[in-house]
Amino acid sequence: MSYTANATPDGSRPVAAVTGASSGIGAAAARMLAAAGFDVVLGARRMEMLQAVADEMGGRAIALDVTDRASVEAFAAAVPRLNLLVNNAGGALGLEPIAESVDEHWRTMWESNVLGLMMVTRACLPALEASGNGHVINIGSIAGLESYAGGAGYTSAKHGVVAITETLRLELLGKPIRVTEIDPGMTETEFSLVRFAGDAARADKVYEGVDPLVAGDVADCIAWAATRPPHVNIDTLRVTPRAQARASVVHRR
Ligand code: NAP
Repeated sequence: MSYTANATPDGSRPVAAVTGASSGIGAAAARMLAAAGFDVVLGARRMEMLQAVADEMGGRAIALDVTDRASVEAFAAAVPRLNLLVNNAGGALGLEPIAESVDEHWRTMWESNVLGLMMVTRACLPALEASGNGHVINIGSIAGLESYAGGAGYTSAKHGVVAITETLRLELLGKPIRVTEIDPGMTETEFSLVRFAGDAARADKVYEGVDPLVAGDVADCIAWAATRPPHVNIDTLRVTPRAQARASVVHRR
């Protein structure tokens, strides 16, 4: 699909910042937003991969660890003009039941998916408001709308994203900033490889016998929401593969 970014109030090229843009959904979103006319700023920890994605579109790669306040503030300072923030950095670690939960997994998931999203948003809000037509797109998950056994560390964090998004929309009412949440279902990226600590066989099993979403499918939703006219706020978009009815109810061939 091809989309066209809205013109900015001051006629400058619109700027989009995408967190977690070194792989998966974030990288695909950066590509699609650049194609729509955004000047894209990409943030993530793995600089070599991030730079390679940025080079594809003439974007700017900036080292970002969303769990580190100093890193977040340096990232925000590097984008004084900002029209769109895509809070995408995050992911899951492990699939243990609560009785066997691993503190470090939970801490990392909450720090990246929840606290990180809060810190990046807080740091970027002044520039988004000053743009006269700002937009925050949070990447939640169907794991933020329902629960599944073994997933509590991740589902509780993504439920947190839903609450933060709703609150942000209430708090920004009357200001020129739109707030969108996109909740993908099963999407084949590095997500499961990270979740299962690099165990490729276990990660592959997640997608066995299913046509999952690919990163570009979710990026398409992001770019579509970002390019609606400024008075239109896409509130929430839940997107799943045809073969997925609920987080843990999947039809396999
Ligand atoms: P992915 O390929 O593993 O990408 C995750 C991205 O987040 C990477 O670019 C990673 O970059 C970045 N990231 C992780 N921790 C970070 C940190 N502390 N600071 C900065 N960047 C960080 O997985 P993905 O599927 O594209 O995930 C993107 C988002 O979609 C996540 O929020 C995930 O929870 C959500 N989601 C995924 C699915 C799915 O099935 N794949 C479904 C629903 C929602 P570095 O490691 O280079 O920092």
